[in-house]
Amino acid sequence: MNLLEETRGVLSEGPVCDGCLGRRFAELSYGLTSRERGKALRVAVSMEDDEPYESPAPKECWVCDGAFSGFDEWAERAASAVEEYDLETFLLGTRVPPLVEENENLLDDLHGEEHAASFSSEFNREVGKRFGEKTDSTVEFERPDVTVTLDLQRDSVEVDVRSVYFYGRYRKLERGIAQTEWECYDCEGTGTVGGQDCETCDGTGYIVDESVEELLRPAFLEATDGAAATLHGAGREDVDALMLGDGRPFVMEVESPRRREVDTDAVQSDANEGADGKVEVRELRRVAGDVVERVKSLSASKRYRARVSFDETVTQEELEEALDALVGTVEQRTPSRVDRRRADKVREREVYEATGEVKDGSATIELHTEGGTYVKELVSGDEGRTEPSFADEIGAEATVEELDVLAVEAENREDFVE
Ligand SMILES: [Zn+2]
Ligand SMILES: [Zn+2]
Repeated sequence: MNLLEETRGVLSEGPVCDGCLGRRFAELSYGLTSRERGKALRVAVSMEDDEPYESPAPKECWVCDGAFSGFDEWAERAASAVEEYDLETFLLGTRVPPLVEENENLLDDLHGEEHAASFSSEFNREVGKRFGEKTDSTVEFERPDVTVTLDLQRDSVEVDVRSVYFYGRYRKLERGIAQTEWECYDCEGTGTVGGQDCETCDGTGYIVDESVEELLRPAFLEATDGAAATLHGAGREDVDALMLGDGRPFVMEVESPRRREVDTDAVQSDANEGADGKVEVRELRRVAGDVVERVKSLSASKRYRARVSFDETVTQEELEEALDALVGTVEQRTPSRVDRRRADKVREREVYEATGEVKDGSATIELHTEGGTYVKELVSGDEGRTEPSFADEIGAEATVEELDVLAVEAENREDFVE
């Protein structure tokens, strides 16, 4: 390849800025910017040809249409767009105007692209360098704190701030609390149907007034100054069930946080104070985002405690016999209490352990079952939809009056550390 011949070829196509000229040769040598390469080649050509050195005004460049003169301005705009956010890392991208892309393709067709850097990679590198200096942050491809997109066509800067995630375990110490905000399905959270108060939710917009999510959320939002916070639980207990023992694993995701470095111990104690003894958080720590899917799909075994009533008298001996017989595999059809439109499926679940005690005509039983077992139905039989069932074994109608989760077991907690 003859460098000067190639340069003359590119220059003959029309006025081109040093940046666009230089990036035709971006892959040659190191430690030079495209502008430096472009200027050096232009100087060399004018010297060899003994012609006056002339460089067009950057705005006259037919390839980038003057865009390469705007690095400083774009960096400034990008920096002020993220001004209110904490960031240590970023990723910057550019949307190239279609016309510039066409110019670029044309030049590639005419002169090859073997050593060339594309418009967008050049733009990202040059603006990114300046942006990093202004915001004291570095480029990161995997999990940048912010992603900045420069839309040259629309003349706009878009900012996407990565959520922050906290892993912990919650205990629920009062009944009647949902896990997450439970919007009314009849009025879709508006509280009204056809101009009237919604009957399903009494006009509140919610099926259950309180949730673990809402009780904990304020502490997280305050600490991070985020836009929204969502709780992702490892399964969920019934609204009326307590969650005891070590608590249930969860991840709280805070969207668009302005502060990323927070004292998790302080967040935990603020959350606990705000939840007023109804819910308790422990083991709170920062984690990476991909933990969410793992926590949600966690199929840990569970220990339950249920208070069960009967339609006739049951002795301790009968209770123990029935519970012993229940240990093993059970088949459960989709419970009749849930949405009838759902496809009816038969699932097999394991009951690992069942113990209990009769007291004052009812019984308190403890069950250790595989994740996903419907405990209410395991006890009642759900009109034959669960087989075998505790009711079948004991030969009486049996109803769960209260159900608490004592423990969610078996997962490697260390996996979740960021
Ligand atoms: Zn240019
Ligand atoms: Zn409603």
